[in-house]
Amino acid sequence: MTTTLTTTFIAARSRAHGPTSALWHAVEVHRAPSEIDGACELTVCGTLARVVPDQPWPVSTRDVCPTCTVLA
Ligand SMILES: [Zn+2]
Repeated sequence: MTTTLTTTFIAARSRAHGPTSALWHAVEVHRAPSEIDGACELTVCGTLARVVPDQPWPVSTRDVCPTCTVLA
């Protein structure tokens, strides 16, 4: 019997912080997206960002976290 684990990523928006501009990050989701509506979650690159449930990952904009792009 084979168990398939599916990992879902959704996009999260970090805040501009000092010299760092706001970026899109990826958040690994093991729950239903409806349960994390608007919450701050730990992104795959280890920062905190506010989840945008309507925004799937990968995002099509250019202001995307390079670390999350590699990891997610
Ligand atoms: Zn990131």
